[in-house]
Amino acid sequence: MEIQILERDDRNLSFILKGVDVAFANALRRIILAEVPTMAIDKVLFVENTSVFFDEIIAHRLGLIPLTTDLDSYVLPEECSCGGTGCDQCQVVLSLKVEAKDDIVTVYSRDLVSQDPKIVPVSGDIPIVKLKKGQKLELEAYARLGRGREHAKWQPVSTVAYKYMPQISIDLEKCNKCGNCVENCPRRILRLEDDQLVITNIIECNLCRLCEEVCPSKAIKVSWDERTFIFRLESTGSLPPERIVEEAIKILIRKSEDFENELKKLR
Ligand SMILES: [Zn+2]
Repeated sequence: MEIQILERDDRNLSFILKGVDVAFANALRRIILAEVPTMAIDKVLFVENTSVFFDEIIAHRLGLIPLTTDLDSYVLPEECSCGGTGCDQCQVVLSLKVEAKDDIVTVYSRDLVSQDPKIVPVSGDIPIVKLKKGQKLELEAYARLGRGREHAKWQPVSTVAYKYMPQISIDLEKCNKCGNCVENCPRRILRLEDDQLVITNIIECNLCRLCEEVCPSKAIKVSWDERTFIFRLESTGSLPPERIVEEAIKILIRKSEDFENELKKLR
């Protein structure tokens, strides 16, 4: 197996995964989506809510705010020594108190005050509710680790996808340099350079095969490598993207070990 990073910043990661089959690539994708834990608000205690929204609507909105996650200090409630009732190891309290005294006030995610500075909204600019003069919102929100399979609010990524590595072969003897493929390629990855057809950025190919179709001399062949994948993921901001992949791999290893141990018991 081989990994080659293509692009990386604080939210996005794309890499080439070589030497695995589609089952492995898909297992990695599904674990990233459904099993890597992140923090999200799960319970809300309303002290006062005189806004036009019901408590349930506000609680739902709070749940969907991505929170920065610290996987080294917190554990899942079901794995916590408190038995899941809520303690410092498995729960963070965020409080909010906003009153519209003179004018209309918009309550934003930045108004949530966290007990732990490491667990805060990824963005402070997420609107929660608008308050008219005289309206008030006061609450205590309880965040905990959870998994995407339970609820999408615990998904660490807004997207994770892979595709096969494209392969384009050009038969230079058959190619009459008509340029049809260059004009029709929606990703603009084919070019005529010095009277020769060249592929500029094969990773951008979406395997649409239009170039194959429009070539009058059938000189182009599009295929893909079944053991090489281009992976792309975008973090919600709760965890750095490379940490999400790392955690997913750890979970995959643990699952395989559990499976092996169960098999040993059958012997
Ligand atoms: Zn606990």
